Amino acid sequence: MEINANKFSNKEVTVTYDPCTCKLSGRCYKELPEVFMDSVIPWVDLEGAPAEAIQEQVNRCPTGALKFHYKNPPVKVSKEEQKQKAKKALAY
Ligand code: SF4
Repeated sequence: MEINANKFSNKEVTVTYDPCTCKLSGRCYKELPEVFMDSVIPWVDLEGAPAEAIQEQVNRCPTGALKFHYKNPPVKVSKEEQKQKAKKALAY
């Protein structure tokens, strides 16, 4: 895991933290203590939970101090594209 004071990365995701924006509500470390910790350094352990759970918790940060990014974002496929792919697969 790559570590600097306000940026945490593993091979899949990056979480950044803006201490000037954080209001120390404690929501992140109370709701997902496997990842966000209040008494150790580094205080973010990206191996503590699946990426989806980390993303959900980051989205609950009331101030936007936490940001989440996939290094290779999952490809979103529309329902129409899914239907077309299914039709093509059935045609062969
Ligand atoms: S949830 Fe956001 S505002 Fe609250 S302590 Fe964590 S980073 Fe700071």
